[in-house]
Amino acid sequence: MDGVRPGIGETGFVRPGAAGPGAADGSTVSATRLTDGQTASLDRVLELFGGHPFALLTGAGLSTDSGIPDYRGPNATPRKPVTYQEFTGDPSLRQRYWARNHLGWAQMHRAAPNAGHFAAAALERQGALTGVITQNVDRLHEDAGAANVVDLHGRFDRVVCLQCGEEYSRDFIATILGELNPGFLAAVAAAGGAGSAPDADADLESEALIAAFRVASCPLCGGMLKPDFVFFGENVPKDRVERAFSMVDSAGALLVAGSSLTVMSGLRFVRKAAKNGVPVAIVNRGATRGDELATIKLEAGVGESLSYLSTALGR
Ligand SMILES: [Zn+2]
Repeated sequence: MDGVRPGIGETGFVRPGAAGPGAADGSTVSATRLTDGQTASLDRVLELFGGHPFALLTGAGLSTDSGIPDYRGPNATPRKPVTYQEFTGDPSLRQRYWARNHLGWAQMHRAAPNAGHFAAAALERQGALTGVITQNVDRLHEDAGAANVVDLHGRFDRVVCLQCGEEYSRDFIATILGELNPGFLAAVAAAGGAGSAPDADADLESEALIAAFRVASCPLCGGMLKPDFVFFGENVPKDRVERAFSMVDSAGALLVAGSSLTVMSGLRFVRKAAKNGVPVAIVNRGATRGDELATIKLEAGVGESLSYLSTALGR
């Protein structure tokens, strides 16, 4: 199905500052430096782009340096995502989901943009971008100051009512969940806490705590609430897709940074750029589904690479 995304589920925990994905040798990601070969490849990317504004497509690999786990990175733990159909159709699964999301939201809430997000915002200010298309729901591009961003898969800081369509801030829903579940956060902490997982999920293992969790309903109509993410089995809203396509169509090139392009929702922009006959560059640790369409593929840290491009263009 077109438009599905990696959804919400279970994975391992990567603590901020710990050895992150891609650092198989145990060194921290932030400590990695570009090699001469990598900077030469990035110079070649700029040469290929020929000074034309490019569209930037980012994925989870960009936010790992901010302590947000990747669901598909080289070191990611496989997990089974919750589908839209499961979420809406199974009350006990929804209860589990919200209990974990209540913890995961707080963790993601504390994440801060890293060098890669700031470099993307700088590239935008330099006039180098037609826009940013991100598969991340963490809003860190916006936090870093980027203005023209399509949050392809939604945003963690918003909740929607599936019945009346009202949108709420996640902060507001957190207050309601806190009132419905007094002592929940303290009980989790007392039980040893919970590890973080992608998409504002958390590794909460206590079945008793999950079973006691009370889910919030829409304050206006009593309808079912859902985080404003695009779940597996759900399509990206059409106007959002069109906005992203227009960023690609008005671009002289496409740069993919930190995405394995596993799902069609991201891969289709690479296909579109290739069809438009513009160069495609991919910076990612590990293979991507778009590699065969790429003019140039670079295995390197995303934050370092974007910073290098911004600095090079500023010269
Ligand atoms: Zn409602």
